[in-house]
Amino acid sequence: MIHQLRSVAIFLFFLLGAFPINAQKEPPLALVGGTLFVSPDAPPMHDAVIVISEGRIKAVGRAADVGVPPKTRLIYCTGKYILAGFWNTHVHFTDAAWNNAAIAPADGLERHMQEMLTRWGFTTVWDLGSFPANSLALRQRVESGEIPGPRILLAGDIFPKNGHPVYLPPEMQLPEAATPDEAGQMARDDLKMGLDGIKLFTGAFMGNKPVINMDTAIVKAAVDVAHAQGKPVFAHPQNAVGVDNAIAGGVDILAHTIPSAPGYTAEELARFKAQNTALIPTLSLWTTVNSDSKVTDHLVQSGVDELKAFSSNGGTILFGTDTGFTNIYDPSLEYELMHRALNAREILASLTANPAAYFHASKQGRVAKGMDADLVVLDADPFGNIQNLTRVAYTIRAGKIIYQKH
Ligand SMILES: [Zn+2]
Repeated sequence: MIHQLRSVAIFLFFLLGAFPINAQKEPPLALVGGTLFVSPDAPPMHDAVIVISEGRIKAVGRAADVGVPPKTRLIYCTGKYILAGFWNTHVHFTDAAWNNAAIAPADGLERHMQEMLTRWGFTTVWDLGSFPANSLALRQRVESGEIPGPRILLAGDIFPKNGHPVYLPPEMQLPEAATPDEAGQMARDDLKMGLDGIKLFTGAFMGNKPVINMDTAIVKAAVDVAHAQGKPVFAHPQNAVGVDNAIAGGVDILAHTIPSAPGYTAEELARFKAQNTALIPTLSLWTTVNSDSKVTDHLVQSGVDELKAFSSNGGTILFGTDTGFTNIYDPSLEYELMHRALNAREILASLTANPAAYFHASKQGRVAKGMDADLVVLDADPFGNIQNLTRVAYTIRAGKIIYQKH
């Protein structure tokens, strides 16, 4: 009998553990009176009401048309601006604050999560390389509701043989693939562990020595494994060969622009279009890689030009900063630099509708009935000034407030 009870308890533990606790116990919530942008290209809806329950948006409309059920917690948003939750498609949970994520005190992790992500409106992030066991443990604690944080998607890294980038500690053990079989096995192992995608270093930066590129056959082997399981593949390209090998191997997303290269060729742009390649610009990263301001200006301008060319070609732009690798947590600089190539609507799309569509997150990226209640409330209009995207009053994920400005 005791044995049976214990079995039932264990069964319940797993059953309950399988549901997002975030969505379960939150009281109904309504955002009342703000200006809502349903999607990046929709006209503003003034005096809007959004009713949220069980993690989802139950109703959206003008205050005159939408009733708020009794016992609903109200957040008055008069003078504020409401958008779908933001995605940061290039982050890293690698700095020391995340160490021992399985057992580290929750308040420290929450504070760092806020400093790095939630106070800037991020409700979903892609970690493009960290210590998988540690990041999986962190994700578990976020999903349990213990640490307020974004939805975390994780990519497993694969490097070319002898392609240990100079900016990573030499003693760090990195998965280097010498053959297509090895790359395929590494990709299989990563996905089996519970990671959500693969990131390939199709070019590894070796400092004063030449870039080490990953052979196309190795790229393709990893891509085939990931695609067979419906998972995306990112590439860190580093140079033009790294871009070309990524394209030839069928990579989905370029995780950076390549500012030291002369720009994308017409042939590359045609391939991006044909293969539905997406680009993460990481323009603010280029302000950190060289101490000479003239070189920095050139790198940044080159990245801006590539972003402009890629976007004008019809390519999907995904917002991403490489935060966590850099210590630039505030996305202001990224918005400013992107705005040299894109308008406010396009930047907003890169934060919301584009990543939701690209990663098939059909319940995200827009504010509509039935969608996940992932929302950002801003204190000022982002179409008035792009920097207002950083003036976050509330970040709401699945109906739960994960950040609130004090
Ligand atoms: Zn990165």
